[in-house]
Amino acid sequence: MAQQLPALPYAYNALEPHIDEQTVRLHHDIHHNGYVVGLNTTLDKLAKARETGDHSAVPGLMKDLAFHSSGHVLHTLYWESMAPNAGGEPTGALADQIVKDFGSFAAFKAQFTAATVGVKGSGWGVLAWSRDYQSLQIVAPEQHQNLADWGSTPLLVCDVWEHAYYLKYQNKRAAYVESFWSLANWAGAAARFGAAKG
Ligand code: MN
Repeated sequence: MAQQLPALPYAYNALEPHIDEQTVRLHHDIHHNGYVVGLNTTLDKLAKARETGDHSAVPGLMKDLAFHSSGHVLHTLYWESMAPNAGGEPTGALADQIVKDFGSFAAFKAQFTAATVGVKGSGWGVLAWSRDYQSLQIVAPEQHQNLADWGSTPLLVCDVWEHAYYLKYQNKRAAYVESFWSLANWAGAAARFGAAKG
């Protein structure tokens, strides 16, 4: 079953002025779609390897699978991590858990910002729920798949590949991440937290 590019959950210009329409259009329609196509191509090649019994390409395909699948999953969550007229702070159980695990919302935000702005090269800032530790954690994968942490469910993600911000912010990644906080969809993150924690 081939994977599909999910529709953007708002209009291309809905994140203005924080993220410009052209960036969202290119990011969703070209970049995100590229990971969907790459994932489906990789899955087709793995199916062919099983059919033919020729597994010589499988080690390389494992790298492609991790890259494209993680890219697709994280981008899908990225669009859901933002919303027009959002931002502010979470409320309810997620807010309580943030205080429990990070001390305060301000301390969480400072750590997430430092981790995200500080990614070496292309990558992400991720707030995740660890089922094993029953706690929130911040991880900052490089590309999409490296430095990821097993057993955790991402709740809120910020893309810091240059394609996410360069048209509007050029090299000012920190200014883009600051704008991300004006778009953070805490209602969506709280719903994902509730589902993950059970
Ligand atoms: Mn991206």
